[in-house]
Amino acid sequence: MEHGPDPFVTAQRQFDRAADYLNLDPAARTVLRDVQRVLEVNFPVHMDDGSIRLFKGYRVQHNMHRGPTKGGIRYHPSVSLPEVKALAMWMTWKNAIFHLPFGGAKGGVVVDPKKLSTHELENLTRRFTSEISIIIGPESDIPAPDVGTNAQTMAWMMDTYSMHAGRSVPAVVTGKPISIGGSQGREEATGRGVMIVTLEALKHSQIDPSTATVAVQGFGNVGSNSARLLAEQGVKVVAVSDVSGGIYNPAGLNIPDVLRYTQEHGTLKGFRNAQSVTNDQLLELPVTVLVPAALENQITDRNAARIQAKIIVEGANGPTTPEADAILNDKGVFVVPDVLANAGGVTVSYFEWVQDLQHFFWSEDEINERLHRIMRDSFARVLSTKESNDVDMRLAAYIVAVRTVADATDARSIYP
Ligand code: NAD
Repeated sequence: MEHGPDPFVTAQRQFDRAADYLNLDPAARTVLRDVQRVLEVNFPVHMDDGSIRLFKGYRVQHNMHRGPTKGGIRYHPSVSLPEVKALAMWMTWKNAIFHLPFGGAKGGVVVDPKKLSTHELENLTRRFTSEISIIIGPESDIPAPDVGTNAQTMAWMMDTYSMHAGRSVPAVVTGKPISIGGSQGREEATGRGVMIVTLEALKHSQIDPSTATVAVQGFGNVGSNSARLLAEQGVKVVAVSDVSGGIYNPAGLNIPDVLRYTQEHGTLKGFRNAQSVTNDQLLELPVTVLVPAALENQITDRNAARIQAKIIVEGANGPTTPEADAILNDKGVFVVPDVLANAGGVTVSYFEWVQDLQHFFWSEDEINERLHRIMRDSFARVLSTKESNDVDMRLAAYIVAVRTVADATDARSIYP
């Protein structure tokens, strides 16, 4: 996987396009173009062999004009400050499009979690939580899972923060296990949102879902749930991949079998009844819908012209560079941008936070029904902005988002 351009430069270029289009007030532009707070921490962790290792982590808050900030925590060897800043900015736009009362934040630790034992990961998570506890909190900044982290990571974070506070503070993180205040439906929420907007995009493109084929890059939380839920809707998933490479069967993959295989083996490698493809080949397969659900900078000016999908639904954050966007727009590919496509996760995280604060919990049906409504409404809002302004879906999403956040910035004015 190539590294590609600096993700924060990409995020700023995407913002600039909308700011230019909206002729945004220079003060709002200056404020929104950069992040509000950056915390960089270097912290020691006791390893199983008795040694001590120093790790680097970040928590970045892009903007808090619309409420407390919110965004995931990533554990990956390529985590960097520009990446975390970009991810934080994208969270601000996502929350605004979905009318969630949050600003945007993100965090990350430079680590390959697969190379640590469970005990080491717990030590790392608890120490990192202590380090960033000076800026997180249920009313200030609420983390959640992202690449390389999961419900267990959130349980350790919640427990560490609660130990400091001397009481249980479930609302400090979302994506927790149900037993400590997690929400029904959160685990699969991002994938469910991807499924819902994929069906909306197919409807808009007048394609019958039963005739559509899908390729999904990345088979973690987002990719695997997107594939499973799309298959359950009768859409044929023909290819999926993880860091080890991909599998392809033009007749359709049996997703429950693939899920069982990865649960048993921890990888897609070696799965039978399919041919092997590389991650690069997967992106260029002849499919109706492509769902990038791994990392940034996958669709670039090097491969965009060869993409055959009619629709791209960005499960991942930042998978498409601005140069690739221009090529895809020229080709007439319908791109559902990340800030719209993958917001199912933060939407159910919002439900989890509300439930934790009220100590009153909703059924899975209520969660899924509310998620469905918000995803469909947000898709419709962006689509009508696209049509009334005659722009692409990404610019339309940014018009909605930047306008909403700029209104809040303007209402609050500059302190002092
Ligand atoms: P995850 O850690 O659960 O899964 C990541 C997947 O990507 C794994 O299958 C991994 O093997 C694969 N992968 C890693 N490196 C790769 C590489 N070099 N090439 C190909 N595949 C690779 O992470 P996730 O939570 O599913 O997140 C995936 C994307 O979705 C990220 O961009 C994340 O920011 C975004 N996202 C996640 C959520 C969420 O709720 N978890 C919400 C919104 C957006």
